[in-house]
Amino acid sequence: TVSRLRPFGTTIFAEMSALAIEHSAVNLGQGFPDTDGPSSMLEAAQRAIAEGHNQYPPGIGIPELRHAVARHQLHHYGLDYDPDSEILITVGATEAIAGSVVGLVEPGHEVIMVEPYYDSYAATVAMAGGVRRTVPLIADGDGFRLDRSRLAEAFTPNTALIMVNTPHNPTGTVLSDDDLAEIAALCVEHDVIAVTDEVYEHLLFDGRVQRPLATFPGMRQRTLRISSAAKTFNCTGWKVGWVSGPADLVAAARSAKQFMSYVGSGPFQPAVAHALDNEMAWVHTSSAELATKRDLLSTALQDAGFGVHRSEAGYFVCADPRPLGYDDGAEFCRMLPERIGVAAVPVSAFVDDVEPWRHMIRFAFSKREDVIAEAARRLRHL
Ligand code: PMP
Ligand code: GLN
Repeated sequence: TVSRLRPFGTTIFAEMSALAIEHSAVNLGQGFPDTDGPSSMLEAAQRAIAEGHNQYPPGIGIPELRHAVARHQLHHYGLDYDPDSEILITVGATEAIAGSVVGLVEPGHEVIMVEPYYDSYAATVAMAGGVRRTVPLIADGDGFRLDRSRLAEAFTPNTALIMVNTPHNPTGTVLSDDDLAEIAALCVEHDVIAVTDEVYEHLLFDGRVQRPLATFPGMRQRTLRISSAAKTFNCTGWKVGWVSGPADLVAAARSAKQFMSYVGSGPFQPAVAHALDNEMAWVHTSSAELATKRDLLSTALQDAGFGVHRSEAGYFVCADPRPLGYDDGAEFCRMLPERIGVAAVPVSAFVDDVEPWRHMIRFAFSKREDVIAEAARRLRHL
């Protein structure tokens, strides 16, 4: 492995999932759902295969899906993107992130990311030869918010872009309007591009609403907005994502994407287009069910003796095992599958500065209620 990738080793998800299998543990480590998405979407993919949509689709994605993605953003956020020049279909949000970074970051230029960050961010910045600068979230009551003074300091004449993930993995935090407004103001002031990762955009709880950074003043023309079908429609294995933004920025991502995967896979694209147009009621129900699962798991963790952070959206809740006598989350997660048959991931896998996060553990609640109930039973044995 080349030196710039050596620090990243094997992803934490692979390591913890292997331990989960070895010990037949309930896997609350890797965030994926264990039930399928809407049946009309599954049928649409099967139909697409039967009808012969099995060769290379267009590199930028099939028109049906680009139009559906455009309609979707206009309807939900009033964001108006041209489906032919301002939307690119990618192999999951992961490729949208990689394409945006590789297409826009010159070697040696800086990329700001909020810490903890989704693990692919640091690795793709390294692939591009960029330098990452992290801005931490800080605990605020039982939730988290941005460290604003660190945010302002992170912008330099060398900043190429900032990566913003809300709702946030791993904390389950939705960045406040004030935090987003501050990011927007700094991007405008320093003429910096924002890449926003909004894969959990439809999975907000307790009446919270998604406010895309691209809707803030001055941001439409400097934001690449990324999302994916994976979390919205329970199809993480389909790897259908997209990036939207002004034509010149989307072209930069496209120039990288065409040599990463060339095109995305064909038969899933019409199925996702169908789901975006017809299955948002399903998503609404699924999101409400997810909030219930969040409650079940958060309560189980509390009952087991953990300190539990507030999860406002997405798939994850973070917990503090120090009240149980453990202060190293990575050690704790390596021991947990064998000890009680539950797998989780340490938040320290998502940070540069481990110290404030050393103890913290992330649990996924995107699982069937009976699976969460079984995990709850096992957690009582801690
Ligand atoms: N960003 C975040 C914040 C994620 O949690 C994930 C994993 N689901 C991704 C990106 C990757 O998304 P995809 O599976 O669509 O590549
Ligand atoms: N996004 C999911 C998570 O954070 C899955 C990640 C992965 O498998 N790479 O758990």
